[in-house]
Amino acid sequence: MKRELFSEEHEIFRDAFRRFLEQAVVPRQEEWAKAGIVSRDVWNKAGEQGFLCPWVSEEYGGSGADFLYSVVELEELSRINENGFVPPLHSDIVVPYIEAFGTEEQKRRWLPGCVNGDIVTAVAMTEPNAGSDLQALKTTASKDGGSYVINGQKTFITNGIINDLVIVAAMTDPKAQPRYTGMSLFCVEYGTPGYQKVRNLEKIGWHSQDTAELFFEDCRVPKENLLGGQEGQGFVQMMIKLQQERLVCSIGAVASMWAVLEWTKKYCEERSAFGRPIIKFQNTRFKLVEMYTMAEVLQTFVDRLITEHMKGTDVVTETSMAKWVVTEELKKTVDQCLQFFGGYGYMMEYPIAKAYQDVRVMTIFAGTTEIMKEIIGRRLGM
Ligand SMILES: Cc1cc2nc3c(=O)[nH]c(=O)nc-3n(C[C@H](O)[C@H](O)[C@H](O)COP(=O)(O)OP(=O)(O)OC[C@H]3O[C@@H](n4cnc5c(N)ncnc54)[C@H](O)[C@@H]3O)c2cc1C
Repeated sequence: MKRELFSEEHEIFRDAFRRFLEQAVVPRQEEWAKAGIVSRDVWNKAGEQGFLCPWVSEEYGGSGADFLYSVVELEELSRINENGFVPPLHSDIVVPYIEAFGTEEQKRRWLPGCVNGDIVTAVAMTEPNAGSDLQALKTTASKDGGSYVINGQKTFITNGIINDLVIVAAMTDPKAQPRYTGMSLFCVEYGTPGYQKVRNLEKIGWHSQDTAELFFEDCRVPKENLLGGQEGQGFVQMMIKLQQERLVCSIGAVASMWAVLEWTKKYCEERSAFGRPIIKFQNTRFKLVEMYTMAEVLQTFVDRLITEHMKGTDVVTETSMAKWVVTEELKKTVDQCLQFFGGYGYMMEYPIAKAYQDVRVMTIFAGTTEIMKEIIGRRLGM
Protein backbone atom coordinates (compact mmCIF):
# COMPACT_ATOMS: atom_id res chain seq x y z
CA MET A 1 0.00 0.00 0.00
CA LYS A 2 1.37 3.39 -0.87
CA ARG A 3 2.42 5.18 2.29
CA GLU A 4 1.35 8.79 2.84
CA LEU A 5 4.02 9.75 5.33
CA PHE A 6 6.79 11.03 3.15
CA SER A 7 7.16 14.19 1.06
CA GLU A 8 9.26 14.58 -2.07
CA GLU A 9 12.09 16.02 0.08
CA HIS A 10 12.12 12.87 2.21
CA GLU A 11 12.37 10.74 -0.92
CA ILE A 12 15.26 12.85 -2.26
CA PHE A 13 16.97 12.36 1.11
CA ARG A 14 16.25 8.61 0.85
CA ASP A 15 18.01 8.45 -2.53
CA ALA A 16 21.01 10.35 -1.18
CA PHE A 17 21.27 8.13 1.93
CA ARG A 18 20.86 4.99 -0.17
CA ARG A 19 23.72 6.13 -2.43
CA PHE A 20 25.83 6.85 0.65
CA LEU A 21 25.18 3.35 2.00
CA GLU A 22 25.97 1.74 -1.34
CA GLN A 23 29.29 3.58 -1.57
CA ALA A 24 30.48 3.79 2.04
CA VAL A 25 28.84 0.83 3.80
CA VAL A 26 27.87 -2.10 1.55
CA PRO A 27 31.40 -2.72 0.19
CA ARG A 28 32.78 -2.91 3.74
CA GLN A 29 30.13 -5.03 5.49
CA GLU A 30 32.15 -8.27 5.36
CA GLU A 31 35.37 -6.61 6.48
CA TRP A 32 33.59 -5.01 9.46
CA ALA A 33 31.88 -8.26 10.47
CA LYS A 34 35.29 -9.96 10.60
CA ALA A 35 36.77 -7.07 12.59
CA GLY A 36 33.84 -7.00 15.05
CA ILE A 37 33.56 -3.24 14.59
CA VAL A 38 32.96 -0.72 11.82
CA SER A 39 35.68 1.72 10.83
CA ARG A 40 35.54 5.09 12.47
CA ASP A 41 35.75 6.99 9.18
CA VAL A 42 32.23 5.92 8.13
CA TRP A 43 30.87 7.94 11.04
CA ASN A 44 32.89 10.98 9.95
CA LYS A 45 31.69 10.62 6.36
CA ALA A 46 28.08 10.31 7.52
CA GLY A 47 28.51 13.45 9.62
CA GLU A 48 30.10 15.40 6.77
CA GLN A 49 27.15 14.55 4.53
CA GLY A 50 24.48 15.51 7.05
CA PHE A 51 23.29 12.01 7.93
CA LEU A 52 23.86 12.22 11.70
CA CYS A 53 21.17 13.77 13.88
CA PRO A 54 19.56 15.71 11.00
CA TRP A 55 16.84 16.80 13.45
CA VAL A 56 19.22 18.83 15.67
CA SER A 57 18.43 22.53 15.30
CA GLU A 58 20.64 24.75 13.16
CA GLU A 59 21.75 26.61 16.26
CA TYR A 60 23.69 23.49 17.32
CA GLY A 61 24.93 22.51 13.87
CA GLY A 62 22.03 20.38 12.59
CA SER A 63 19.46 20.88 9.85
CA GLY A 64 16.34 21.04 12.03
CA ALA A 65 14.80 18.16 10.06
CA ASP A 66 11.72 16.25 11.21
CA PHE A 67 11.67 12.68 12.59
CA LEU A 68 10.74 11.26 9.18
CA TYR A 69 14.34 11.76 8.03
CA SER A 70 15.37 9.39 10.82
CA VAL A 71 12.65 6.96 9.70
CA VAL A 72 14.12 7.03 6.18
CA GLU A 73 17.60 6.21 7.51
CA LEU A 74 16.26 3.35 9.63
CA GLU A 75 14.43 1.84 6.69
CA GLU A 76 17.40 2.11 4.37
CA LEU A 77 19.76 0.51 6.91
CA SER A 78 17.32 -2.39 7.33
CA ARG A 79 17.07 -2.78 3.56
CA ILE A 80 20.80 -3.52 3.36
CA ASN A 81 20.81 -5.67 6.51
CA GLU A 82 23.24 -3.31 8.31
CA ASN A 83 23.48 -3.22 12.06
CA GLY A 84 27.13 -2.51 12.83
CA PHE A 85 27.01 1.07 11.65
CA VAL A 86 24.10 2.34 13.72
CA PRO A 87 23.20 6.02 13.21
CA PRO A 88 19.72 5.36 14.71
CA LEU A 89 21.28 4.42 18.07
CA HIS A 90 23.39 7.58 18.06
CA SER A 91 20.98 10.02 16.36
CA ASP A 92 17.60 8.85 17.62
CA ILE A 93 18.29 7.15 20.94
CA VAL A 94 21.35 8.67 22.66
CA VAL A 95 21.75 12.24 21.37
CA PRO A 96 18.08 13.07 22.10
CA TYR A 97 18.95 12.79 25.81
CA ILE A 98 21.43 15.65 25.45
CA GLU A 99 19.05 17.73 23.36
CA ALA A 100 16.04 17.18 25.63
CA PHE A 101 17.63 17.30 29.09
CA GLY A 102 21.05 18.93 28.63
CA THR A 103 21.85 22.37 29.99
CA GLU A 104 22.61 25.08 27.44
CA GLU A 105 26.33 24.62 28.12
CA GLN A 106 26.06 20.83 27.58
CA LYS A 107 24.21 21.28 24.28
CA ARG A 108 26.81 23.74 22.99
CA ARG A 109 29.61 21.46 24.11
CA TRP A 110 28.43 18.18 22.57
CA LEU A 111 25.65 18.56 19.99
CA PRO A 112 27.76 20.04 17.13
CA GLY A 113 30.23 17.13 17.41
CA CYS A 114 27.37 14.60 17.45
CA VAL A 115 26.12 16.12 14.19
CA ASN A 116 29.43 16.40 12.32
CA GLY A 117 30.73 12.95 13.30
CA ASP A 118 33.46 14.06 15.71
CA ILE A 119 31.51 12.46 18.57
CA VAL A 120 29.98 8.97 18.40
CA THR A 121 27.75 8.18 21.36
CA ALA A 122 26.55 5.22 23.42
CA VAL A 123 24.21 4.78 26.37
CA ALA A 124 25.15 2.57 29.31
CA MET A 125 22.25 1.51 31.49
CA THR A 126 22.63 -2.28 31.69
CA GLU A 127 24.88 -3.93 34.28
CA PRO A 128 25.74 -7.60 34.81
CA ASN A 129 22.99 -7.82 37.46
CA ALA A 130 20.62 -5.11 36.28
CA GLY A 131 19.00 -5.33 32.85
CA SER A 132 15.22 -5.42 32.85
CA ASP A 133 15.30 -4.33 36.48
CA LEU A 134 17.10 -1.02 36.06
CA GLN A 135 16.37 0.01 39.62
CA ALA A 136 18.84 -2.66 40.74
CA LEU A 137 21.81 -0.92 39.19
CA LYS A 138 24.88 -0.64 41.39
CA THR A 139 27.07 1.91 39.63
CA THR A 140 27.54 4.91 41.90
CA ALA A 141 28.45 8.53 41.31
CA SER A 142 29.63 10.19 44.53
CA LYS A 143 29.85 13.94 44.79
CA ASP A 144 33.31 15.18 45.69
CA GLY A 145 33.70 18.94 45.64
CA GLY A 146 33.10 20.16 42.10
CA SER A 147 33.07 16.68 40.60
CA TYR A 148 31.48 13.24 40.73
CA VAL A 149 33.44 10.00 41.07
CA ILE A 150 31.87 7.12 39.14
CA ASN A 151 32.45 3.47 40.07
CA GLY A 152 30.79 0.47 38.47
CA GLN A 153 30.52 -1.91 35.56
CA LYS A 154 28.28 -1.82 32.48
CA THR A 155 27.67 -4.58 29.97
CA PHE A 156 26.15 -5.20 26.51
CA ILE A 157 26.82 -1.60 25.48
CA THR A 158 26.22 -0.90 21.78
CA ASN A 159 29.01 1.30 20.31
CA GLY A 160 30.87 0.27 23.46
CA ILE A 161 34.28 0.48 21.81
CA ILE A 162 33.81 3.13 19.14
CA ASN A 163 32.09 5.73 21.31
CA ASP A 164 33.68 9.05 22.23
CA LEU A 165 30.94 9.90 24.71
CA VAL A 166 28.77 7.60 26.79
CA ILE A 167 25.72 8.47 28.84
CA VAL A 168 26.03 6.46 32.05
CA ALA A 169 23.22 5.70 34.49
CA ALA A 170 24.48 5.80 38.08
CA MET A 171 23.15 6.11 41.62
CA THR A 172 23.89 9.53 43.10
CA ASP A 173 21.90 8.54 46.17
CA PRO A 174 22.07 4.75 46.66
CA LYS A 175 19.86 5.00 49.79
CA ALA A 176 17.04 6.92 48.08
CA GLN A 177 13.49 5.62 48.58
CA PRO A 178 11.98 4.91 46.16
CA ARG A 179 15.27 3.84 44.70
CA TYR A 180 14.72 5.31 41.25
CA THR A 181 14.76 8.84 42.71
CA GLY A 182 18.47 8.39 43.45
CA MET A 183 19.45 7.73 39.84
CA SER A 184 21.21 10.25 37.56
CA LEU A 185 22.71 10.31 34.08
CA PHE A 186 26.29 11.41 33.36
CA CYS A 187 28.00 12.25 30.09
CA VAL A 188 31.43 10.63 30.21
CA GLU A 189 33.99 11.37 27.52
CA TYR A 190 36.39 8.68 26.42
CA GLY A 191 39.83 9.60 27.67
CA THR A 192 38.56 10.49 31.13
CA PRO A 193 40.89 8.61 33.54
CA GLY A 194 39.06 5.58 34.99
CA TYR A 195 36.75 5.04 32.00
CA GLN A 196 37.83 1.73 30.47
CA LYS A 197 36.43 -0.11 27.47
CA VAL A 198 37.15 -3.63 28.52
CA ARG A 199 35.89 -6.26 26.10
CA ASN A 200 34.16 -6.39 22.72
CA LEU A 201 31.72 -9.26 23.35
CA GLU A 202 31.28 -12.20 20.96
CA LYS A 203 27.67 -12.52 19.85
CA ILE A 204 25.37 -14.78 17.81
CA GLY A 205 24.78 -11.98 15.29
CA TRP A 206 25.33 -8.25 14.80
CA HIS A 207 28.95 -9.18 14.18
CA SER A 208 30.13 -5.78 13.02
CA GLN A 209 28.57 -4.10 16.05
CA ASP A 210 30.95 -3.47 18.93
CA THR A 211 28.89 -4.47 21.95
CA ALA A 212 31.15 -4.09 24.94
CA GLU A 213 31.74 -4.16 28.66
CA LEU A 214 32.70 -0.87 30.25
CA PHE A 215 34.36 -0.24 33.60
CA PHE A 216 34.37 2.94 35.63
CA GLU A 217 37.00 2.97 38.33
CA ASP A 218 37.29 6.18 40.32
CA CYS A 219 36.30 7.94 37.13
CA ARG A 220 36.14 11.62 37.99
CA VAL A 221 33.94 13.88 35.90
CA PRO A 222 33.22 17.57 36.51
CA LYS A 223 29.79 18.31 37.97
CA GLU A 224 29.03 19.97 34.61
CA ASN A 225 28.76 16.44 33.13
CA LEU A 226 25.65 15.59 35.17
CA LEU A 227 22.96 15.60 32.46
CA GLY A 228 20.62 18.50 33.05
CA GLY A 229 22.60 19.58 36.10
CA GLN A 230 20.13 18.15 38.60
CA GLU A 231 20.56 14.91 40.57
CA GLY A 232 17.87 12.23 40.79
CA GLN A 233 16.35 12.82 37.35
CA GLY A 234 17.98 9.86 35.55
CA PHE A 235 15.22 7.27 35.79
CA VAL A 236 12.51 9.67 34.68
CA GLN A 237 14.72 10.89 31.80
CA MET A 238 15.21 7.28 30.66
CA MET A 239 11.49 6.50 30.86
CA ILE A 240 10.64 9.57 28.79
CA LYS A 241 13.09 8.61 26.05
CA LEU A 242 12.07 4.95 25.88
CA GLN A 243 8.99 5.76 23.75
CA GLN A 244 11.22 6.84 20.86
CA GLU A 245 13.70 3.99 21.46
CA ARG A 246 10.92 1.40 21.13
CA LEU A 247 9.46 3.11 18.11
CA VAL A 248 12.89 3.10 16.47
CA CYS A 249 13.12 -0.68 17.05
CA SER A 250 9.66 -1.19 15.56
CA ILE A 251 10.39 0.91 12.46
CA GLY A 252 13.62 -0.98 11.83
CA ALA A 253 11.95 -4.36 12.39
CA VAL A 254 9.05 -3.77 10.00
CA ALA A 255 11.49 -2.48 7.35
CA SER A 256 13.54 -5.65 7.83
CA MET A 257 10.38 -7.69 7.25
CA TRP A 258 9.91 -6.07 3.85
CA ALA A 259 13.54 -6.63 2.92
CA VAL A 260 13.47 -10.29 3.92
CA LEU A 261 10.22 -10.86 2.03
CA GLU A 262 11.62 -9.22 -1.08
CA TRP A 263 14.73 -11.47 -1.15
CA THR A 264 12.61 -14.54 -0.44
CA LYS A 265 9.97 -13.90 -3.09
CA LYS A 266 12.71 -13.35 -5.67
CA TYR A 267 14.48 -16.56 -4.64
CA CYS A 268 11.25 -18.56 -4.76
CA GLU A 269 10.58 -17.28 -8.28
CA GLU A 270 14.05 -18.27 -9.45
CA ARG A 271 14.53 -21.61 -7.68
CA SER A 272 12.88 -24.67 -9.23
CA ALA A 273 12.01 -28.09 -7.85
CA PHE A 274 9.98 -30.86 -9.43
CA GLY A 275 9.95 -28.94 -12.70
CA ARG A 276 8.53 -25.65 -11.50
CA PRO A 277 9.54 -22.54 -9.55
CA ILE A 278 8.99 -23.18 -5.85
CA ILE A 279 6.71 -20.13 -5.70
CA LYS A 280 4.22 -22.20 -7.69
CA PHE A 281 3.71 -24.55 -4.74
CA GLN A 282 0.61 -23.52 -2.87
CA ASN A 283 2.36 -23.90 0.48
CA THR A 284 5.04 -21.37 -0.56
CA ARG A 285 2.52 -18.89 -1.91
CA PHE A 286 0.18 -19.11 1.05
CA LYS A 287 2.98 -18.69 3.57
CA LEU A 288 4.41 -15.73 1.65
CA VAL A 289 0.93 -14.20 1.40
CA GLU A 290 0.44 -14.58 5.16
CA MET A 291 3.76 -12.84 5.81
CA TYR A 292 3.06 -10.02 3.34
CA THR A 293 -0.32 -9.51 5.01
CA MET A 294 1.29 -9.29 8.44
CA ALA A 295 3.90 -6.82 7.15
CA GLU A 296 1.12 -4.57 5.76
CA VAL A 297 -0.83 -4.68 9.02
CA LEU A 298 2.23 -3.91 11.12
CA GLN A 299 3.43 -1.17 8.75
CA THR A 300 0.06 0.57 9.09
CA PHE A 301 0.28 0.38 12.88
CA VAL A 302 3.87 1.64 12.97
CA ASP A 303 3.14 4.50 10.54
CA ARG A 304 0.27 5.63 12.73
CA LEU A 305 2.57 5.58 15.75
CA ILE A 306 5.16 7.64 13.87
CA THR A 307 2.49 10.26 13.19
CA GLU A 308 1.30 10.31 16.81
CA HIS A 309 4.86 10.39 18.15
CA MET A 310 5.65 13.38 15.93
CA LYS A 311 2.60 15.17 17.30
CA GLY A 312 3.94 14.61 20.81
CA THR A 313 1.18 12.19 21.87
CA ASP A 314 1.86 9.78 24.73
CA VAL A 315 1.96 6.45 22.89
CA VAL A 316 4.05 4.53 25.42
CA THR A 317 1.44 1.75 25.59
CA GLU A 318 1.19 1.45 21.82
CA THR A 319 4.94 1.70 21.10
CA SER A 320 5.47 -1.05 23.69
CA MET A 321 2.86 -3.10 21.81
CA ALA A 322 4.61 -2.41 18.51
CA LYS A 323 8.05 -3.24 19.92
CA TRP A 324 7.07 -6.72 21.02
CA VAL A 325 4.70 -7.65 18.23
CA VAL A 326 6.82 -6.44 15.32
CA THR A 327 10.05 -7.99 16.59
CA GLU A 328 8.35 -11.32 17.43
CA GLU A 329 6.72 -11.38 13.96
CA LEU A 330 10.03 -10.53 12.32
CA LYS A 331 11.62 -13.46 14.13
CA LYS A 332 8.95 -15.82 12.75
CA THR A 333 9.21 -14.27 9.27
CA VAL A 334 12.97 -14.71 9.06
CA ASP A 335 12.72 -18.32 10.22
CA GLN A 336 10.01 -19.16 7.66
CA CYS A 337 11.80 -17.32 4.85
CA LEU A 338 15.04 -19.16 5.58
CA GLN A 339 13.12 -22.42 5.16
CA PHE A 340 12.24 -21.41 1.60
CA PHE A 341 15.93 -21.00 0.78
CA GLY A 342 16.49 -24.67 1.71
CA GLY A 343 20.19 -25.49 2.29
CA TYR A 344 21.25 -22.20 0.76
CA GLY A 345 19.46 -20.39 3.56
CA TYR A 346 22.00 -21.88 5.94
CA MET A 347 24.93 -20.49 3.93
CA MET A 348 26.37 -17.16 4.97
CA GLU A 349 26.65 -15.96 1.38
CA TYR A 350 22.86 -15.47 1.43
CA PRO A 351 21.64 -12.44 3.42
CA ILE A 352 18.81 -14.48 4.92
CA ALA A 353 21.41 -16.42 6.96
CA LYS A 354 22.78 -13.19 8.44
CA ALA A 355 19.22 -11.96 9.10
CA TYR A 356 18.57 -15.20 11.01
CA GLN A 357 21.57 -14.53 13.26
CA ASP A 358 20.76 -10.86 13.68
CA VAL A 359 17.04 -11.07 14.42
CA ARG A 360 17.35 -13.02 17.65
CA VAL A 361 18.38 -10.08 19.77
CA MET A 362 15.51 -7.85 18.71
CA THR A 363 13.03 -9.30 21.19
CA ILE A 364 15.63 -8.83 23.94
CA PHE A 365 17.25 -5.40 23.71
CA ALA A 366 15.49 -2.09 24.32
CA GLY A 367 13.23 -3.99 26.73
CA THR A 368 12.34 -7.67 26.34
CA THR A 369 9.00 -8.90 25.01
CA GLU A 370 8.04 -9.85 28.57
CA ILE A 371 8.87 -6.39 29.91
CA MET A 372 6.85 -4.80 27.08
CA LYS A 373 3.86 -6.90 28.16
CA GLU A 374 4.40 -5.89 31.80
CA ILE A 375 4.35 -2.20 30.81
CA ILE A 376 1.26 -2.61 28.65
CA GLY A 377 -0.56 -4.59 31.35
CA ARG A 378 0.25 -1.94 33.94
CA ARG A 379 -0.87 0.89 31.69
CA LEU A 380 -4.10 -0.95 30.95
CA GLY A 381 -4.70 -1.18 34.68
CA MET A 382 -4.18 -4.96 34.97
C1 LIG B 1 23.27 -6.90 21.42
C2 LIG B 1 22.79 -6.14 22.61
C3 LIG B 1 22.93 -4.76 22.64
C4 LIG B 1 22.53 -4.04 23.78
N1 LIG B 1 22.76 -2.68 23.82
C5 LIG B 1 22.57 -2.01 25.00
C6 LIG B 1 22.99 -0.65 25.15
O1 LIG B 1 23.47 -0.02 24.21
N2 LIG B 1 22.83 -0.06 26.36
C7 LIG B 1 22.29 -0.71 27.43
O2 LIG B 1 22.18 -0.12 28.50
N3 LIG B 1 21.89 -2.01 27.32
C8 LIG B 1 22.02 -2.67 26.14
N4 LIG B 1 21.63 -4.00 26.02
C9 LIG B 1 21.06 -4.66 27.18
C10 LIG B 1 19.59 -5.02 27.01
O3 LIG B 1 18.79 -3.88 27.04
C11 LIG B 1 19.25 -6.04 28.11
O4 LIG B 1 19.92 -7.24 27.76
C12 LIG B 1 17.78 -6.28 28.25
O5 LIG B 1 17.13 -5.14 28.79
C13 LIG B 1 17.47 -7.49 29.17
O6 LIG B 1 18.18 -7.41 30.37
P1 LIG B 1 19.03 -8.70 30.86
O7 LIG B 1 19.89 -9.11 29.73
O8 LIG B 1 19.69 -8.34 32.13
O9 LIG B 1 17.97 -9.83 31.07
P2 LIG B 1 17.15 -10.08 32.44
O10 LIG B 1 16.60 -8.81 32.92
O11 LIG B 1 17.99 -10.88 33.36
O12 LIG B 1 15.97 -11.00 31.90
C14 LIG B 1 16.11 -12.42 31.70
C15 LIG B 1 14.75 -12.97 31.30
O13 LIG B 1 13.82 -12.75 32.37
C16 LIG B 1 12.69 -12.08 31.88
N5 LIG B 1 12.15 -11.15 32.89
C17 LIG B 1 12.83 -10.23 33.62
N6 LIG B 1 12.00 -9.55 34.41
C18 LIG B 1 10.76 -10.02 34.16
C19 LIG B 1 9.44 -9.70 34.64
N7 LIG B 1 9.26 -8.72 35.54
N8 LIG B 1 8.39 -10.41 34.17
C20 LIG B 1 8.57 -11.38 33.24
N9 LIG B 1 9.78 -11.72 32.74
C21 LIG B 1 10.85 -11.05 33.19
C22 LIG B 1 13.19 -11.29 30.67
O14 LIG B 1 12.13 -10.95 29.80
C23 LIG B 1 14.16 -12.29 30.07
O15 LIG B 1 13.45 -13.21 29.28
C24 LIG B 1 21.97 -4.72 24.87
C25 LIG B 1 21.81 -6.11 24.82
C26 LIG B 1 22.22 -6.82 23.72
C27 LIG B 1 22.07 -8.31 23.73
